Amino acid sequence: MTIQPAENKLKIAIIGTGPGGLAAIINLSRLPFVELSAYDQASELREVGAGISINQNTWRHLQLLGAADAIEQFNLRGDGTKVDSEQRNGITGELLFSRLQTVDPNIPARSRIERYKLQKALLDQIPAGFIKLSKRLSTIIELSKGVQLSFEDGTTAGPFDLLIGADGIRSAVRKHSFPDHKLSYTGKVAYRTLIPQSAVAHIPNIPKSSCFWHAKDTHVYTDPLDNGLFEIATRASETEESVKKVSWGQKIKRDQVVHHYDEYVDTIRQIIAVPDEWLEFAMFGGPRLESVISNNRIALLGDASHPLSGAFGSGAAFAFEDAYVLAKALAYTKAKGEPIGEALKLYDEVRSPHYKGLYAILNGFGSNAKDIQASSPSLDENEFINERTRRNWAANNSWIYEYDVTKVWKEHIQTLEASKDFLKLDLAQNDETGQKPLPQIPVSA
Ligand SMILES: Cc1cc2nc3c(=O)[nH]c(=O)nc-3n(C[C@H](O)[C@H](O)[C@H](O)COP(=O)(O)OP(=O)(O)OC[C@H]3O[C@@H](n4cnc5c(N)ncnc54)[C@H](O)[C@@H]3O)c2cc1C
Repeated sequence: MTIQPAENKLKIAIIGTGPGGLAAIINLSRLPFVELSAYDQASELREVGAGISINQNTWRHLQLLGAADAIEQFNLRGDGTKVDSEQRNGITGELLFSRLQTVDPNIPARSRIERYKLQKALLDQIPAGFIKLSKRLSTIIELSKGVQLSFEDGTTAGPFDLLIGADGIRSAVRKHSFPDHKLSYTGKVAYRTLIPQSAVAHIPNIPKSSCFWHAKDTHVYTDPLDNGLFEIATRASETEESVKKVSWGQKIKRDQVVHHYDEYVDTIRQIIAVPDEWLEFAMFGGPRLESVISNNRIALLGDASHPLSGAFGSGAAFAFEDAYVLAKALAYTKAKGEPIGEALKLYDEVRSPHYKGLYAILNGFGSNAKDIQASSPSLDENEFINERTRRNWAANNSWIYEYDVTKVWKEHIQTLEASKDFLKLDLAQNDETGQKPLPQIPVSA
């Protein structure tokens, strides 16, 4: 990879180098007309958290990004009988839903790996020292000559023709472009940890697959990962007062976690009691943005573009999809000699409807619970949990993980080209006759 500054290139700044920013660097550095700069507030790039799911859409982009080979070795594949995921009632342990892992050689098996492995596979594609670290963006000034950036260390950079905000859920770039958009605390925290599988080997009835254990207001996720690790990721309700002190990924002790899961089935109570220490994440989310671009020179990417609060467990893949489309749009408009604003328009046309669809699913989850409460108020807690889980999982949302943005992009451009051809034809016919042609009526077979 060569990332060389030159005159007359499109100057692009990327703020944030999580999975989204890294994918943007790799994709954009392949465009010969781009001069790229990337900044992150962190003094070193490391991933906090635990595991990350590699679904079909994640895998497609890891291949495109040149990072799949480094990940393949961690993929745990089965023989067609391997259960890939389960949904259980967390109070009774009852199995409500399960899915087998695919053995189709053309479809990657869903698997879950430690998050730092994904981060490393992407970072390995980028020259050392390219990302400027300890650069926390503080101010954005939009001038006629471009976007000027100031950082908390007192330095500045720019002007840039395009600013990409890949700065995560609490995006400073989003705040600048959409000052009325507000994030709020969801009332939930996530507790996450990785422990050796040997530490839970004595506990009966632990599923070999990934498993969600549902209760009314909380859930627990368990998953044996590659190389002998066991992941536990949970959700619990916490008041706003108690999370005000909480930073993202703060270490907390066992006592602060276990009491949330006292009502759970014995298997889960035993598992939750094992780790001494957990990481706590306060979950923030916000309404959907109508558009992921601003002023023909700012684009939001990854969590910055869709503050969904980790819903669907596929945020890295969504960020990869964003980065892919943005690079394609810039290449397409460059080839056509069109201004950068046209590229951003295309990016928005492809990505905003996708996020609209995801928010609709999330709203559907909320209304399933309300509908059940309204239509069947006599259900006891376990019946409610079972019914809500069945309804949420009956809706087939697997398209999210199978989504092929490369096809969607191609089809979008084909439709655009076809409409331009039609317009040309329409204008030509108008010129010849001075009249608009009659509409073509399809003849049925
Ligand atoms: C509990 C939880 C579980 C999840 N599980 C999964 C999963 O299984 N699979 C999956 O695909 N996704 C999962 N996600 C989502 C996933 O972590 C995110 O969607 C993904 O990390 C988004 O990548 P990003 O690059 O957009 O943002 P981030 O990873 O948040 O990266 C943002 C970067 O911007 C930098 N930054 C922020 N502000 C500034 C600033 N002002 N100046 C400079 N730099 C800045 C940060 O240091 C960071 O490096 C989960 C999320 C949560 C919360």
